[in-house]
Amino acid sequence: MRKQSNHHKGHISSTERFRRKRNKLFKNDPNCYWCGKLTVNRDRKLEESSSTKDNDATVDHLYSKFQPERYRDGYKGIVVLACGKCNHERGIEEEKLFFLKESYMLQLITEV
Ligand SMILES: [Zn+2]
Repeated sequence: MRKQSNHHKGHISSTERFRRKRNKLFKNDPNCYWCGKLTVNRDRKLEESSSTKDNDATVDHLYSKFQPERYRDGYKGIVVLACGKCNHERGIEEEKLFFLKESYMLQLITEV
């Protein structure tokens, strides 16, 4: 068994959990899941901070919020290592989809 310096097991912050997940994914394969580019695992304090660079290693969901596959394996879903650029671009796509869905629902309501 591996010795752990952190004695507060079960009390780790979500940021720390994210960092560990990123380290694990990076160790497994440092290339971006989407574009295949080699990422840089910078030790940032905040995962979703605005300081994220294009080649930064980030944790991304394999499926978007609008794909039922995302919820198949629990709420957290499957994550992959993505470069900052791809993660950001996927985020924008999700926003767009969300907006489209919202306006579609609104349309349905007003048409009744
Ligand atoms: Zn990428």
